[in-house]
Order: sequence, then C-alpha cells, then structure tokens
Amino acid sequence: MKENIEATGFDVLFNAALNKGTAFTEAERKKYKLRGLLPPGVSDPDVQLNRALQNMRRKHYDIERYIYLSALQSRNERLFYRLILENIQEVMPLIYTPTVGQACKEFAAIFRQPKGIYITAEDRGNVSEILNNWPEEDVRVIVVTDGERILGLGDLGANGMGIPIGKLALYVACAGIQPNQCLPVMIDVGTNNQEMLDDPLYLGLRHKRIQGEEYDALVDEFISSVQVAYPKALIQFEDFLTPNAYRLLNKYRNQVLCFNDDIQGTAGVALAGVYASTKISGVAFRDLRIMFLGAGSAATGIADLITYAFQKEGFTEEEARKKLWFVDIDGLVIQSRDDLLPHNLPYAHDHPAADFISAIKQIKPHMLIGATGFPGTFTQEAVKLMAEINERPALFALSNPTSRAECTAEQAYNWTQGRAIFTSGSPFEAVRYKEQYFKPGQGNNAYIFPGIGLGAVVSEASRISEDMFLVAAKTLANMVSEKDLSVGAIYPPLHNIRDVSLQIAVAVAEEIISSDLDSIRKVDNLQQKIEEYMYQPAY
Ligand code: NAD
Repeated sequence: MKENIEATGFDVLFNAALNKGTAFTEAERKKYKLRGLLPPGVSDPDVQLNRALQNMRRKHYDIERYIYLSALQSRNERLFYRLILENIQEVMPLIYTPTVGQACKEFAAIFRQPKGIYITAEDRGNVSEILNNWPEEDVRVIVVTDGERILGLGDLGANGMGIPIGKLALYVACAGIQPNQCLPVMIDVGTNNQEMLDDPLYLGLRHKRIQGEEYDALVDEFISSVQVAYPKALIQFEDFLTPNAYRLLNKYRNQVLCFNDDIQGTAGVALAGVYASTKISGVAFRDLRIMFLGAGSAATGIADLITYAFQKEGFTEEEARKKLWFVDIDGLVIQSRDDLLPHNLPYAHDHPAADFISAIKQIKPHMLIGATGFPGTFTQEAVKLMAEINERPALFALSNPTSRAECTAEQAYNWTQGRAIFTSGSPFEAVRYKEQYFKPGQGNNAYIFPGIGLGAVVSEASRISEDMFLVAAKTLANMVSEKDLSVGAIYPPLHNIRDVSLQIAVAVAEEIISSDLDSIRKVDNLQQKIEEYMYQPAY
C-alpha cells in the first residue's frame, strides 16, 4: 500500500505500512489527526526499536518471539523490518528456520490475522476472482506452497502457509523487495496428515489431498490467473513434495517467470560454497570429484547446477555428470539398480555396487555433500577416510535443522585434525580445535533467492534461467573474504546480506540483459537503479 497522505486517524494507525506508532512526531500527529489517539510521549525511532527488541527478547520461547514478530509485522511494517535488518543473525532463525517449522505445526493454534491468499480445491473456475480480492495491484513476488513437504516436517496442509509468509519477509529484509509487492499463496488441496484433519482448530480443507488431473488443473488455473492479474510477478515454488516439485518446475520454467527454491535456490547456495571451498583446498573447480549422500530433490538440484557449471568450463554433459556420484539409503547410485527415480538416472553410472564407505574408497571424492535429512550419516569412519584421501576434505552437512546435520561442526574438525572445510544448512556455534578457531558459515538459501528475485523484478525478467543461479553463485563466492576463509567460513557474514543481495541482483540483471531471453530492457546505471528500488525500513 503506497503512502496515503489522505488517510487520517485510525486509518493511519491501523495500517501497517503507514503506522509509526509512538514515533509519530508532533507535526505528523497534527497532520494525520492522531492527537489524543496516542500516549503523548514521542519516541525517538531508536528508542522505539529498542523497546520492540526488548519485548521480543523477554519472551520465554522462540515460538512466542515468532508470534510477537508476526504481530509487529501486522502493526508497524517499518519497525518490523528495521528490527530484522539490524539484528539479522538473531531474528532470521525466529522468522524462518528453525522457528517457522514450529510455527507451521502450530499455525492453526497461533493464528491471529490472515496474511496472503488461500486458493482451495473448491475454487476451480474462480481463481481469478480470488486473486482480485487481494488489495494490491502491482504484485512482483509470489511464494506459493501446497503444504505437502514443509521443511523436514512432511504434510502440514494449510498450516504450511507459514512458509510463504516467512520467505517473503526474507525477500523484503534481505533484498529490499517492496512489502506491498509480495504475495504469500497457499494452494490448499487438503491434507493426508490425520493429526491435522482431527485437530478441531485446523483451518484448512478437511479432506485428503486431491491429486492427479484435478490437482494439476487447479495449479494450472492459478499460474494462468497470475499471468493476467500480475503479469510481472515472479512465482517461487516452495516445499512441494519432490515429484510434484520437479514436475511443476519442468512444466512451467519455460512458460512463466518462476523457479523452485528447494531445488534451484539450494543449488545456488551450495555451488557458491563449492566455489569458495576451492579457495581453501586449492583444487581447481574443474578437477573436482563430488559425492552426494542423499539423492532427493536438494542433492539432485545441486548436482544439476554443478553439471551446468562444469559444462560452462568446457566439459560435455556426460563428462560433467561422471564427476558427480550419489549414495542414497540403498548405496551407490548405479545403472544396475532398478529402484531409482527419474531424477537419479542421469547420475547412475556404470559401476559395481558399493556402500558409502567402499564408494569413498573407490571414487576418492574431494568433497561430500550431505542432504539425507538424517543426522550422523557422515560417520567418523567416512570423515576420517575423507581426511586420508584429501589434505582439505570438504564436508557439506546440509540437512536441516541443526539436529539433523549429517555431522556436527565439532566432529568435522575433530575427526580431520582441523583440516575439514565444513558448512551446514543450519547454523553451528564456533568451534575451537587445539589452537585453531573455526566459525563455519551456513549455506542458507537466503543468500541466493532474494537477490535473484530482486534482479528479476528490477529488470522485469520474463524467465528464470540456470545461468542466473550460476552468476548468483559466483557472485556470492566472490564476496567471501580472506578473513572469512581464515576461520573456515565459505559464506560471507549474514549481516552483509543486503549488500550480498544487491551484488547478486546486479549480476543477475546483467545476465538477463546480456542473454537472449526476451522482454529485456536496457538499463543504465544498473546498480543505482536497483538500489533506488530497494525498500528501506526507515521513517
Ligand atoms: P528427500 O526426501 O527428497 O531426499 C532424501 C534422500 O536422502 C533420499 O535419496 C534418501 O534415500 C536419502 N537418505 C536418507 N537416509 C539416508 C542414509 N542414512 N544414507 C544415505 N542416504 C539416505 O529430501 P530433500 O528434499 O532432498 O531434503 C534432504 C535434506 O536436505 C533435508 O534435511 C533438508 O533440510 C535439506 N535441505 C537443505 C537445504 C539447505 O541447506 N539450504 C535446502 C533444501 C533441503
């Protein structure tokens, strides 16, 4: 909602975009007819921010902090985003993982105010009408889920709405997408989660998920209605079940402006980590052999982007794939297996069967990338073996939350005598190993997707290409400083996130402009234009 100078009184105070609460000055109180509607003391904005921060901190549980922050977002948007931006390390885990997982589980119980659009299986034929009920006309970023695979928590049905809400808050905080241009969407097709169906508080459709043609038709109607209502909007698919995630991405990626963050965003952030790790290991990117533990959507998405990156180095697709190996719950992914899913087949090599340890011995990878969802799967034996084979073994324990990481930061350093290049999907505390101090970085998708979105929005892209994720990954890796590397971090500190998103957006926009994708606008002073667009949560 744009600054509405016509609004007065409660129309200002109860409008989150306009409200400044106790920070309205005397002159503003007069101008907006607020005198008498607020306590007489005028708060300095810094004092007001500090009050909000203290209120958040005095809560006893993170879920209470989440509820507090959600209410603040509904009450005073600028204060909410300033609080996030100035305390990003502390607040990001509260508005996104891990707390958002808890918030989704309890979504119905803690529900206060609607944020976003619900499209249900009963709305077939009327989706446009529903989108028209949204009060904003210039939506640029939509995050949509059907709630079937929420983080590692499975099918949470309509409770999954917490995810689009959280991701869009990160778009605004990390990249400065304008809040009024963001739209969270829940496509509610029911849930197979009996606990939800039995919960009297549950707010979604109370039946099992519709699937097949009916499901596809609803998603299709949603996508086409968005093209009419918001033709410039970027659609981010989020937390769909792996087969649907791939199917929808492959169906729409060449038709509309969209991407899937679980597949492509994860891939971008992991590839940036791979690039940065070579600065420590000294192994050239083109010489890398990489082994994945886990062969689901996260790992395969990473491998697909790395394949593409290798191709850009001059390898054929086949040569590139031969450098990438997968081990899943049933062992090495090889051609002779008959239990593989379609997305595994390009990486199924001609090789004898092997378990994880034998596979490491035979293939001698430079790095392990774990995306299993199961803790302890980078065993001591596996990590020690990696340290025998490599001077600086890279260990990416990407499973979320922290308790699910394939190994801990401490284990990685202890089992390799401090030689591991470690990163994880969720944060770990700093580790001391003998005289060495390590502060490993977190491969957080928030490094990539907000910048991609910003670049696409400002340059009015028509499609999201693999090249955009490639340049985003390279840009992110180039922002890792010697200081970061000296403590084992292969990502820049999170407090630099706005600058990271800006640089990624510039690189992505340049990529859009220089590529053959259509609807390209020539933009002078790209960085300045992007900076001018970015939302600043200041009064
Ligand atoms: P998925 O269910 O699609 O795939 C899991 C894979 O792990 C399967 O191939 C399975 O066979 C394999 N696996 C399970 N247990 C194993 C074991 N003991 N040994 C070997 N393989 C095993 O899941 P997904 O969507 O790919 O997500 C996997 C994990 O990746 C999740 O924990 C998620 O939190 C994490 N993830 C992290 C990021 C990030 O860090 N940025 C992003 C997305 C997903």
